[in-house]
Amino acid sequence: SNWISVKEARQGSSAGKSVEIRGWVRTRRDSKGGFSFIEVNDGSSMGNLQIVAPGELANYADEIQKLTTGCSVVITGELQESPAKGQDTELHADAVRVLGWADPETYPLQKKRHSFEKLREWAHLRTRTNTLGAVMRVRDQISQSIHQFFHENGFFYTHTPIITASDCEGAGEMFRVTSLDLEMLAQKGGPVKYEYDFFDKPTFLTVSGQLEAETYATSLGRVYTFGPTFRAENSNTSRHLAEFWMVEPEAAFFDLADDMKLAEDFLKQIFTDCLNKCGEDMAFFDKMIEKGKLDQIKAVIEKPFQHMTYTDAITVLEKASKKFDYPIAWGTDLQAEHERYLTEEHVGGPLILTDYPSSIKPFYMRVSDDGKTVAAMDVLVPGVGEIIGGSQREERLDVLQRRMAEADLNEEDYWWYIDLRKYGTVPHAGFGLGLERAVQYVTGMSNIRDVIPFPRTPGNADF
Ligand code: ATP
Ligand code: MG
Ligand code: MG
Ligand code: MG
Repeated sequence: SNWISVKEARQGSSAGKSVEIRGWVRTRRDSKGGFSFIEVNDGSSMGNLQIVAPGELANYADEIQKLTTGCSVVITGELQESPAKGQDTELHADAVRVLGWADPETYPLQKKRHSFEKLREWAHLRTRTNTLGAVMRVRDQISQSIHQFFHENGFFYTHTPIITASDCEGAGEMFRVTSLDLEMLAQKGGPVKYEYDFFDKPTFLTVSGQLEAETYATSLGRVYTFGPTFRAENSNTSRHLAEFWMVEPEAAFFDLADDMKLAEDFLKQIFTDCLNKCGEDMAFFDKMIEKGKLDQIKAVIEKPFQHMTYTDAITVLEKASKKFDYPIAWGTDLQAEHERYLTEEHVGGPLILTDYPSSIKPFYMRVSDDGKTVAAMDVLVPGVGEIIGGSQREERLDVLQRRMAEADLNEEDYWWYIDLRKYGTVPHAGFGLGLERAVQYVTGMSNIRDVIPFPRTPGNADF
């Protein structure tokens, strides 16, 4: 067949061709002249293709005039230059075949606008709307750009395990993994003991692939892992999910400055690709979701990111302390409101915060000469706050062991991680970017639940 996508059909160069289009009806409007306009979308782009269906078609009265939003159709005809504004071509149909009806009495996505919150109740249908469709195309683009950027910079894609025995972040936000047999044992009244467990020890869904990625960085040099991560976040916020996708590069012979440069180059490449390859969707976000987004991102690409130490940030925040719900003092972790104040109000763009107190950061971050701070960096952006958290890693065996003891970690559980410091240890660094937070920033969507297909949050795993 001469099946082409709506995206391709809408390009002016296609005029004059006989084609087939397969998609879903967005709207139908019958004209007085005895023909109908049908807007069809197939997901390939934001724009619909306008179909002109003449009244002479055999199924005009029986089927075409009964088409409603959501029906699936296959249409053949000739593409012609369109007299209408905002589109290059329209399809003059010679056949309209209906594959599936969508009862307008029950189909939830009628012309009326629904709130994003309401749309979450139809997570299986919501990508048929303009906004969610655009979000998922941008999400795809960012994922592709991530792979491309790292490959072009000599990083190998590695797969780190989903089931782990170590709590990388030490934040106690892990989901326990249990086999069904065990659960049945418990129901019969048996005590569930670790000894009985499938893995002979307690295991969890990973919160980060970093520790395993470090083993590969210290052999392959530059690697990245990109996969789902899980955190039992106990609060409902607009930027936390229980299941999210994280990309984590890790590079041998990198220090904190190299790490920051990598993060900045990486983000700028992603933003550039979104502007260049998702132009239509980005223009939509600029118009409908966050005015000025396009100019904002263009400016971000052109200017170097600003840097500030955590200590200096605390000074800034203390002066504005009246604006915040949470108290702020040196030694406390920053809340979203603090991060957003710094990036939105104080610098008006991305900000890299460095040198956090060791007391609020995990054991693996490299202790600085002052003994109080670690070589950490977070990238903060307007609208979201933290999108990247990273650091130079502790490569000195004795310091690492001391930090593990302070964190009450059992060295035997991390023997393989410690080995990396015993045999050919090298300075190395890396970071983690939450994919969803990047999508939130690029699109301007305010709730993280609307940038992942099936959001997992407390009390919500329906689909
Ligand atoms: P936050 O302070 O927002 O809780 P974090 O400091 O706990 O984040 P990290 O452990 O530094 O997060 O993880 C690296 C990155 O992963 C973060 O910068 C963020 O982009 C993303 N991330 C962390 N937790 C979540 C989550 N629950 N949902 C979505 N993305 C997350
Ligand atoms: Mg957290
Ligand atoms: Mg944080
Ligand atoms: Mg962090």
